[in-house]
Amino acid sequence: MLLPAQIIQSKRDGNALTEDEIRFFINGFTSGELPEYQMAALAMAICFQGMSFDETMWLTRAMIESGQVVEWPRAPRSFYADKHSTGGIGDKVSLILAPLVACCGVKVPMISGRGLGPTGGTLDKLESISGFRTGLSLDEFKRVTDKVGCAMIGQTAEIAPADKKLYALRDVTATVSCLPLIVASIMCKKLAENVDGLVLDVKWGSGAFMRTRETSAELAQAMVEVGKRYGKKVCALQTDMNQPLGQKIGNALEVRECIELMNGSADADDLLEVTLALSAEMLLMANVAKSVADARQMLQKKLASGEALRKFAEMITAQGGDAKVCDEVKRLPSAKKTKPISATKSGVVQSIECDQIGYAVIALGGGRKMAADKIDFAVGFEQPKKIGDAVKAGEPLMIMHYNDEARGAEAERMVQNAYKIEDKPVTTKLPLIVQRVS
Ligand code: URA
Repeated sequence: MLLPAQIIQSKRDGNALTEDEIRFFINGFTSGELPEYQMAALAMAICFQGMSFDETMWLTRAMIESGQVVEWPRAPRSFYADKHSTGGIGDKVSLILAPLVACCGVKVPMISGRGLGPTGGTLDKLESISGFRTGLSLDEFKRVTDKVGCAMIGQTAEIAPADKKLYALRDVTATVSCLPLIVASIMCKKLAENVDGLVLDVKWGSGAFMRTRETSAELAQAMVEVGKRYGKKVCALQTDMNQPLGQKIGNALEVRECIELMNGSADADDLLEVTLALSAEMLLMANVAKSVADARQMLQKKLASGEALRKFAEMITAQGGDAKVCDEVKRLPSAKKTKPISATKSGVVQSIECDQIGYAVIALGGGRKMAADKIDFAVGFEQPKKIGDAVKAGEPLMIMHYNDEARGAEAERMVQNAYKIEDKPVTTKLPLIVQRVS
């Protein structure tokens, strides 16, 4: 007879848990037999004591088995692949990557999340498109993926329900930033999706959960290893999140930037580069391309021909949204006011507290302070000064889109405080893609 308090005590004292103990806890928590306070205590003990690789695998398995594993029709030659990002500011890659990779013949079923802490969420971005439904049933999700080639939804009750419940608990008990819990949480959803290939974008820096390159590399390695043990083709790119990705931050603004990137009118080299690098990995896994160079050429063609944008429009229609936004970005929500946020001193941008830019979007109403908050999709920022850019006092650090003066004033201060500007050049440029882990 296992007693929950004894299992918590065992982890608290630094012992490794057995597979049975982990399964007992996860099953009991998911069914409601074990109270949240005991799960919270175990999560905190795991934060302090960590988990071995075997324990992390068992936790992942117990969470997968708390729900269903998706069955795909497996038509001849169809390859299912997904991409997951650990989250960042201005990280809108999924919205371009899913239709782009689908145009190349790979099926992309994507289960995404909402904004978390300072990081934006794919579902919130998509919901800024009028009518877009992220809450498809599992059957609808499978139908859209097979018909269109890609679909993007939120976590359903059927897939890894243990994670849905545990994630909500971790969010309010300061147990999010914990490597084994993050590995199990991300990988259980992706493995329950039952894709053949998975590409992970593991961010590091001031706008990421993992602040250092070392911890983010550790996370990448652990996730890749779990994926491989499940027989999946999996690799991770460790990418920079010390400054916003692209030129727009905020839900509708980011959708606009994606559409502009796909119609050739956006100027966002960093966003394009990360998107191409991750997409190329998916084409290689699917054997659709023989080399990275081939893959990139194929992807560039699909962007230049407008096929990727048409595929995005097709997906929007299939999920009930207003696909006309792809031709008329003005149909997206827009804020009543815009205002340049001025630099308070002259010099060169040395660093940015990137998470503060995410919190500034929340201050404007573009993210949630409480789970039940309604989002103002229109607000956010564009044209941010980046690390290494010179700026004069009074010149804009970025342009703010806002609807409320008091919220705007608070967000303006947050952005100004997030920038470190000094009168010296930046000599070391941070690589956008640090390394590939496979
Ligand atoms: N994203 C997830 O899905 N889970 C985590 O624990 C962290 C980021």
